[in-house]
Amino acid sequence: MMQATFLETPIEYLKGVGPARAEILGKELQIRTFGELLSLFPFRYIDRSKIFPVAEVKDDTAYVQIRGKITSVETLGKLHAKRLVATLADDTGEIELVWFAGIKWVESKIKIGAEFIVFGKPSWFNGHLNIAHPELEIPGEQPVLVSDTFRPLYSSTEKLKSKGLDSRGLSRLMRTLVQSDRFFVPETLTPSILDNLRLMNRQEAFLNIHFPSSHEMLQKAQARLKFEELFYIQLRLLKQKFNRTRKQSGHTFSKVGHYLNDFYHHYLSFELTNAQKRVIKEIRGDLGSGKQMNRLLQGDVGSGKTLVALMTMLIALDNNFQACMMAPTEILAFQHYSTITKMLSGLDVKVELLTGSTKPAKRKEIAGGLTDGTLHILIGTHALIEENVQFRNLGFVVIDEQHRFGVAQRARLWEKNPVTPHVLVMTATPIPRTLAMTLYGDLDNSVIDEMPPGRKPVITKHVFDAKIDPVFEFIRKQVGLGTQVYIVFPLIQESETLDLKNLMEGYESVKTIFPSPQYHIGMVHGKMKQQEKDKAMERFLKKETQILVATTVIEVGVDIPNASVMVIENAERFGLSQLHQLRGRVGRGADQSYCILVTGYKLTTEAKKRIETMVATNDGFIIAETDLRLRGPGDVEGTQQSGILNLKIADIIRDEKILKYARNLATDIIHDDPDLISENNAVLSRHLKIMNKYSENWGLIS
Ligand code: ADP
Ligand code: MG
Repeated sequence: MMQATFLETPIEYLKGVGPARAEILGKELQIRTFGELLSLFPFRYIDRSKIFPVAEVKDDTAYVQIRGKITSVETLGKLHAKRLVATLADDTGEIELVWFAGIKWVESKIKIGAEFIVFGKPSWFNGHLNIAHPELEIPGEQPVLVSDTFRPLYSSTEKLKSKGLDSRGLSRLMRTLVQSDRFFVPETLTPSILDNLRLMNRQEAFLNIHFPSSHEMLQKAQARLKFEELFYIQLRLLKQKFNRTRKQSGHTFSKVGHYLNDFYHHYLSFELTNAQKRVIKEIRGDLGSGKQMNRLLQGDVGSGKTLVALMTMLIALDNNFQACMMAPTEILAFQHYSTITKMLSGLDVKVELLTGSTKPAKRKEIAGGLTDGTLHILIGTHALIEENVQFRNLGFVVIDEQHRFGVAQRARLWEKNPVTPHVLVMTATPIPRTLAMTLYGDLDNSVIDEMPPGRKPVITKHVFDAKIDPVFEFIRKQVGLGTQVYIVFPLIQESETLDLKNLMEGYESVKTIFPSPQYHIGMVHGKMKQQEKDKAMERFLKKETQILVATTVIEVGVDIPNASVMVIENAERFGLSQLHQLRGRVGRGADQSYCILVTGYKLTTEAKKRIETMVATNDGFIIAETDLRLRGPGDVEGTQQSGILNLKIADIIRDEKILKYARNLATDIIHDDPDLISENNAVLSRHLKIMNKYSENWGLIS
C-alpha cells in the first residue's frame, strides 16, 4: 500500500491522539485525518501581546491577560465546595483568581509575592469580577512555540473537553501537526492566481491561521483560505453550468409566431417596461441558441414577472411546444391560472390548472389534452411533476418562487423529457447578489429592476397595538372611499389549534368593530378547504367583502388591485421578506396604498430593525440585503441545500468582495479552459476531483 500523504494520515497516528481520542474527534467534529484537523479553524484569537491593567477589566465579554503579583492565597470551603482563592495585584488594582479543581498543583506553584502573567475570562461573582481557572505563566519563561502572540480559540464539545481536548488541547494537537517534520500542505491554486492576487501559499496560510506570527500574517492567511473556499464553490458551479449547456442541447425556438404577435399587438393593454423588454430579449436569445436554458428571473414584487413568463411561454407555443408553470401553493397556482386565462381570453390558447385537489375526471381530461397536444399551457403545483403527468412535447417550464421548492424538484422536472425543456426560475423577492451567486450560481441571471409606470410607492407606518383606534378610523374612511383592506394575523407555529383560535378571535373582533350590514368581512387561512379559500378570495375579488382577515396564505402572488390597505397584526413576529411580500399585495392599482405594521411595545433589537427597514424603504433588493444581514444565510430558505452553511471560514455576507473576485476569476478560467485541461490548470482539476470525492455536502449543491 502506498503511504498516505501527510494530510490523509489517520488522526489516531498523531502524537497525543491515539485510538480513543481519535474516535471522539471523528464523532464530535468529523475529524478523521491530519488534513481535517488542520481545517478546524479557530473561531477567534486572543492578542497575547496586550496586557490589561486590572482597573481596565470591567466586564465579562473578553479574555484578558494581566501581569501582577500574588498578594494572598487561601483555601476556602470543604469537600465539594472546596476552592482555592488567590489575589493578584498590579499598580492599578487587584482581582480574584479562583480554582475549584487541581488545587494541590496550583498551591504548589503560587506563592505570595510571586509574579505571574495570568490569562482567562473574567466572570461576575457576588458583585465583583473574578477569573476562574486562569492560565498561569511566569514572565520571561518563553514557551517553545511557533508563535505566541495570538492565542487561537477552537470550538470544542463537552465530550472532547472531558478527554482533555478543550480549546487548549486542540491547539496543542495543532502545534504537534505543524511542527512535524512531515508537515506538508500541497498548493491548490495556480501560480498565476497566487501571483495576481498576491495570495499567501497554502502551507503558510495553514500555519498562520493556527499560529499567526502577526496581525498582518493572520489577515493574509484568512484572505487566502476564504478565497480558496469561495473560488472552488464558484469553479464547481460554473463548470457544471458549462457541462450542462454543452451536453444538453436544447430545443431551438427559432421563430416568433402568431401566438406571441397576436397577444402583443392585440391583447396586451399596456406598454412593457424597458426592463421587461430587456429580460424577454435575454430569454429569447437563450431559446434560439440551441442550448438548454436555465435562467433565474428576479424582480421585486409587482415588477411584472408573470407577464414575462406568459410571453415567453407563448414563444414555446409558437414553436409547437407545450409549456407549464409550477407554483408553490394552490392559491398561487390558481392566481396564475386566472390571471393568465384572463390575459389570453379571446386567443386560441388552451390553459388548464392541475393541483392536488383537481378531481379525477378533470385530471383525465387534462391528461388527454397533454398527450394529444391540444392542451397548450398547464399551470399547477408540484402535482405537475408527478409520474403520471405526461406531456406530448414539453418545451418550456416556468418555476415560480423557486426557493420554496428546493433543488431536488428542480432536477426532477429536467429529467422528465428526452430533451430537457428550457427552465425559467422566478423568485418571489429579489435575492442578495452574494446569495444568488452561490445559491443559483449555475443559472443565468435576469433582473427586472424597474416597476410598471404609475405605481405609487406604498406608504408604510408603524403603530403600537395600544394605539390602534385611529387605524380602525382610517380603515372606515378608506372602505368608505371604495377600497378594500387586508388584515393579516401571524402564524405561531407551536400549535395549529392555537393559531386558528388567534385568527378566529381576530376575525370576531374585526366583525364587532366593523359590524354588518354596513361591512362585510371575509376570512382565509391555511386550514380551510381549497373550495372555501377560493370562494373567500372570489368574494373579495368581486368586492362582496371589503375586509379580508387572513393568515400568510395570501403572502405570495395574490393580485387584487382594488385592495389598498394592508394591516399586519403582530408584525414583530414576521420576517422581513414575509413583510415585504405581504406589503406587495397592495399598491397594485392606481390608488395610493398603505401598509400598517401593528406591534406591541416590547420589541427585540432585530424586530425593531425589521420594522424600521419596512418603514424606510420599498426596495426589495435593500430589504433582501438587510434580511440576510440580520438573519445570516442559515435562515434563508434554500440555503440548507446549498452548502453555504458548511463554509469553514468564508462568510458570504462579510466576504462579499472576495466572493466577487472568486466568481470573476472562476468565470474567466472556465471560459478559457472549460475542461481544465491546460497544464496550468491541472492543479485546479485535481483539487476539484478530491473535493468532489470527499465532501458529501458538495453533492447537494446544484
Ligand atoms: P410579479 O409577479 O413580478 O409580482 P406581476 O406579474 O404579478 O408581478 O405584475 C403585477 C401587476 O402589474 C399585474 O397586475 C400586471 O398585470 C401589471 N403589469 C405587469 N407589467 C406591466 C406593465 N409593463 N405596465 C403596467 N402594468 C403591468
Ligand atoms: Mg408574482
